[in-house]
Amino acid sequence: MKKNKKLLIAGNWKMNGLKKNSLMISNLMKYIKNKKFKNTDILICPPFTIANIFSTLSKKSNLMIGAQNCSDKASGAFTGDISPEMLKDIDLEMVILGHSERREYHNETSEIVKSKAINALKNKLNVIICVGESLSQKKSGKTLRIIGDQLKKSLPDKISSNNLIIAYEPIWAIGSGKIPTIDSINEMFNMIRQWLLNNGIDNNIKILYGGSVNKENAKEIFSCRDLGGLLIGGVSLKAKEFSEICIMAG
Ligand code: PEP
Repeated sequence: MKKNKKLLIAGNWKMNGLKKNSLMISNLMKYIKNKKFKNTDILICPPFTIANIFSTLSKKSNLMIGAQNCSDKASGAFTGDISPEMLKDIDLEMVILGHSERREYHNETSEIVKSKAINALKNKLNVIICVGESLSQKKSGKTLRIIGDQLKKSLPDKISSNNLIIAYEPIWAIGSGKIPTIDSINEMFNMIRQWLLNNGIDNNIKILYGGSVNKENAKEIFSCRDLGGLLIGGVSLKAKEFSEICIMAG
């Protein structure tokens, strides 16, 4: 990943997609093919089973392919796990780590996220680290403390805007159709930026917003100061709408 000021529009397919959905990736490539994205990088993170197909199909296109998780181990007796080296082996460029669904359903602590991130970076795989608060944490006024704690414990020491991106994804906004106000996204970005500054971390690190983004609300979200891009779940499965958001980003 080159150091740049471009927005990143990233799609997280989660546990969706079969071989036959390669058509969707071909459609997406068709929609974005002749567009000159001066301001935008585009990434799709499909499930492992089709990542190799997507990676092959997207060669020489303006689309990057990534993964949704990786192991914190290099290799060996870890049944069912996938190492960063395996992801690099099929030319994946990035990995999403610490998504709230992994934190919740797989008990991934911030310490585990950090150890996975260290392993990914060691293998020259760029990392998107997700942070975000639950509704009850938000209601009890704990958002800033929770995000600060996740950042402190999830981010490895040797990071820069060349190899790491932060995605702010309020858990209550994921898949719910609800998004925070623009003021509140700006406030969270300021808080994260300030945290990076206070901790002597590269202040050019991109910060993405994620949670119920669609083509209707994207325009408003693009108005956020300091937006580094979007992490999109459900809508990333819809080639046309996803490509329209990429085109909107420019
Ligand atoms: C996500 O899971 O990262 C996400 C943002 O999902 P959705 O866009 O569907 O809310």
